[in-house]
Amino acid sequence: MAIFNIYSITNYILAICFYSIHRTKLAFFMTFFEIFTHQIVGSYYLGFASGFNVVLMCLFFLQFTFFTRWSSIAMVSCGLILSVYGLHYFKDYLVGEYSYAQELFFYVNSFASAVFMIVYGALATVSQSKKLADLTYLIHKDFLTGLFNRKYFEEKVVSNLNKDESILIAICDIDNFKAINDNYGHDIGDIVLKSVASVIYYEILEYKGVVARWGGEEFIVKVNLKNNQEAEHCMNIVKNSVARQELKKYNIKPTITIGGIFIQNPNKDDFEKYFKIADQELYYGKKSGKNLVNIQVS
Ligand code: GH3
Ligand code: MG
Ligand code: MG
Repeated sequence: MAIFNIYSITNYILAICFYSIHRTKLAFFMTFFEIFTHQIVGSYYLGFASGFNVVLMCLFFLQFTFFTRWSSIAMVSCGLILSVYGLHYFKDYLVGEYSYAQELFFYVNSFASAVFMIVYGALATVSQSKKLADLTYLIHKDFLTGLFNRKYFEEKVVSNLNKDESILIAICDIDNFKAINDNYGHDIGDIVLKSVASVIYYEILEYKGVVARWGGEEFIVKVNLKNNQEAEHCMNIVKNSVARQELKKYNIKPTITIGGIFIQNPNKDDFEKYFKIADQELYYGKKSGKNLVNIQVS
């Protein structure tokens, strides 16, 4: 066993070295093989009752961190089951005899295995829920502007509209954006989009509202406000803030037109109707010269 431990330590040092140079697969196999052989050798020298076969069971779990193909998992599992039963079948041929040391090993091995399985289970659950949270975050993000996207707005904002609140739903549309793209190129257009998005975002943040990129050069806003005057005031702040901003390097001063609707006791099933009214108000704003705010009270 002492000689075997020299192999074990060397094996782990090498596995750490391989891991640090990103040879993860090799490091995993070395670790897996060491744990496997350690349990067989341990059982052989200290007897079946010393509980090394219990540790072998942990390898069933460990394989899931690495193998993704079911054929590999099935093969390794069969090998492990055969090893556990093989040790039991040949237990009379194992060297170890009953002693207190054997009993001590049994408790240590069982305890270590239980701790491993609990920690493994907890880590697997945490990593699973983190992956899910990351995925949910990604599908709700607009990659260009960093704002939430339309999917988020529909799934998290519209579906949570509450009849007890009074809200403003508004569409902010960049004026003459096609001309910016045509004159300066799509890349500069993207820079303008990002900078307008960030101005709207920070202004709406002040009001504890939500803003999302609805699509193209349009943003949708939901803010809880007391009355129509407050809604007008809030949207004028946003509009003026965008108009004040200048992309000096390109000499571009983007503006936005805002169409909105102020609703008391909104009904989430009527969102389409609210959106149409806000879009109509936006249309009137565009027709009346742009860089304007038009809000209807429902
Ligand atoms: P208006 O003042 O009436 O709103 O006119 P507009 O030019 O802003 O609107 P129009 O709908 O004619 O053009 C919108 C343009 O926005 C067309 C499209 O190519 C561009 N666009 C949409 N998404 C993106 C994007 O992600 N990046 C860039 N650079 N352009 C985009
Ligand atoms: Mg538009
Ligand atoms: Mg536009």
